[in-house]
Amino acid sequence: MTTSIESPCNAKYLGKVVCVGRNYAAHAAELGNEIPTRPILFIKPASSVVGIDSLIASQVIDVPRDTAYEVHYEAELCVRIGAPLKAASIDAIKETPKAIDAVTLGLDLTLRELQSELKAKGHPWERAKCFDGSCVLAPWVDPEVFADFSAVNYQLYINEKLTQEGKTELMLFSLYELLSEISYAFSLQPGDVIMTGTPSGVGVLKAGDRLTLKLGEHQWQTEVE
Ligand code: ZN
Repeated sequence: MTTSIESPCNAKYLGKVVCVGRNYAAHAAELGNEIPTRPILFIKPASSVVGIDSLIASQVIDVPRDTAYEVHYEAELCVRIGAPLKAASIDAIKETPKAIDAVTLGLDLTLRELQSELKAKGHPWERAKCFDGSCVLAPWVDPEVFADFSAVNYQLYINEKLTQEGKTELMLFSLYELLSEISYAFSLQPGDVIMTGTPSGVGVLKAGDRLTLKLGEHQWQTEVE
């Protein structure tokens, strides 16, 4: 088996980041949200992507008023698109070589308090979800060992305590269902990234927290500034 690892920030490979909201029932429940009947999609810009060695505990997003917000973590399975996908069925995606050309774990960082304010007003979430550094990606690895992605397990440990555990079998929409649904909403291009939604256990990042992300045999560690 060969495993290739690349920097997540390699501009040659970086497109838009399509994120999926509420793809695990237990996470929807912990935030008091309804379970969606179609995937909830939002996009982070390429400017939001950083490697896992750049985690921060608070974010000043409202510069004129100098308001600092706590940063919350959401650990998610992430895949990188390797072939153009437009209005593609699940079967078509499975038959497309390099449809998924890399996989890793990421943190969908969120200013939860600001997001709640925006949601209450019916406003878009970008101010709470798209700031620089809000898409944290571990190095990419070869997707081949994950077969059809229906039985992938991953974990986030904070200060050695198991904090989030994702099991793709518990996704409300499977990875291939997501890719197909997304490809009907807008084109996916090589270099685009999909964040597949977070399991339950989300919370606040604190300065000095030590994070370990585990995906199968792969493991990455970092510390929050
Ligand atoms: Zn998320």
